[in-house]
Amino acid sequence: MIKKLHKKLMEREISSVELTEKYLATIEKKDKDIFAYLTLTKDIALEQAKKVDKKIEKGEEVALLAGIPCALKDNILLEGVRVTAGSKILDNYIAPYDATIVSKLKKNDVVILGKTNLDEFAMGSSTENSGYGPTKNPYDQNRVPGGSSGGSAAAVASEEAVWAIGSDTGGSIRQPASFCGLVGLKPTYGRVSRYGLIAMASSFDQIGSLTQSVEDAGIVLSAISGKDKKDATTVDFFDKKFEENLEEKKKNLKIGIVKEYEKNLSPEMGKKMTEVAKFFEKEGVEILEIELPNVEYSLAVYYIIQPSEASSNLARFDGIKYGLRVNDEADSSFSESGIPKTLLETYLDTRRYGLGREVKRRIMLGTYTLSAGYYDAYYIQAQKVRTLIKTDFENAFEKVDAILTPTTPTPAFKFGEKSQNPLEMYLADIFTITANIVGVPAVSVPAGKIKIDNKEMPVGIQFLGKWFDEENLLKIAHIWEKNKN
Ligand code: GLN
Repeated sequence: MIKKLHKKLMEREISSVELTEKYLATIEKKDKDIFAYLTLTKDIALEQAKKVDKKIEKGEEVALLAGIPCALKDNILLEGVRVTAGSKILDNYIAPYDATIVSKLKKNDVVILGKTNLDEFAMGSSTENSGYGPTKNPYDQNRVPGGSSGGSAAAVASEEAVWAIGSDTGGSIRQPASFCGLVGLKPTYGRVSRYGLIAMASSFDQIGSLTQSVEDAGIVLSAISGKDKKDATTVDFFDKKFEENLEEKKKNLKIGIVKEYEKNLSPEMGKKMTEVAKFFEKEGVEILEIELPNVEYSLAVYYIIQPSEASSNLARFDGIKYGLRVNDEADSSFSESGIPKTLLETYLDTRRYGLGREVKRRIMLGTYTLSAGYYDAYYIQAQKVRTLIKTDFENAFEKVDAILTPTTPTPAFKFGEKSQNPLEMYLADIFTITANIVGVPAVSVPAGKIKIDNKEMPVGIQFLGKWFDEENLLKIAHIWEKNKN
């Protein structure tokens, strides 16, 4: 899609301003219902589009992404524009600088249409935890678009953006991609700078893309990856043009299917997996059953480490440095005695009012698992199991080039179906969370539709690759994608 649009721009079949206006008009028409966007950046978008048109007119070289409209998840900083992370505590907080990936996008002359909705601080799997209301799934508006990057996914699926940026801590790019029929790529931990991403669980967080094709995912990755002085986890090697040579197939390709996941598969998903495995065998790819003996502890490990890190990261939102401050009742910041409210009361009231239920739940859980006495029993123990899971993956990747799983246990669920039961919601991430625990890259690719309540809903399959091997991962995903089309 991106290359096609780039060609149109270069051949002056359409201008970037026209393209941008077309997408803005679709947003105007559809977003009242879909609610993919929290903030529109129309002026910034049009100004950028004009700049690109001028460059093209002058015959200057422009990047593949130049002049093409995209959307940015609202937990990533775009200087001078409101950034909420889906939380009331950051309502009207203006980003003071650009995230590294935003600087990179600007360098590529990308047109940014706006900031998309998400579960508050990216905690959730449906956007129902957004402080601003849920985003709808464009395929069925009674269903969730997935989360937490639900706004980004819905924007692309409803043609309110050509592609979008998301963030993925436990599946937040891949699960919405699966629910909305898109390609969702979570790069290797360390591939893309997290500077300017509002931190949720820092040892899992990674920025990636929601696109309409594997090639588009490669194009975006080439633009946003690389070493950044401001994020010490980033590396300066293996930078490639990930969109090139996707047709190349490695010899003796081997893909693993996880034995331990078999019991988690619904009949429909089981059928889908068999279909995909058969396809690859026909393509001459060897399908091997692999064992990941500790993978069943992934969800437990994640829901100890994630709340621990989140409780620490979110401590900064206390009413002093950022956004909302509640230090009064009807603005009587002085009690009758004339004594100002205490600092502690300001913290407590701001957080009580500004944070939602799920975020409070995670902060409480995380504070508990980090507290003296429980730290060893929970946090340290979870880190040890994390290492065991990583070793399982190291062993598996000695035998196979990639691992194939479903992306999600089911297609998109209905609003309210899981929101009353946090554990049910957490289970939606059972296949995606492991990639974040061990840091490998993973991509969700559309795999047709499944009938649910008489409705055809998209589902995805997931490929997990070796650390920093996005190149082969995308090539493998591309083999499947070609079959689908
Ligand atoms: N659904 C998971 C959670 O709630 C993952 C979210 C994400 O990847 N940001 O923590």
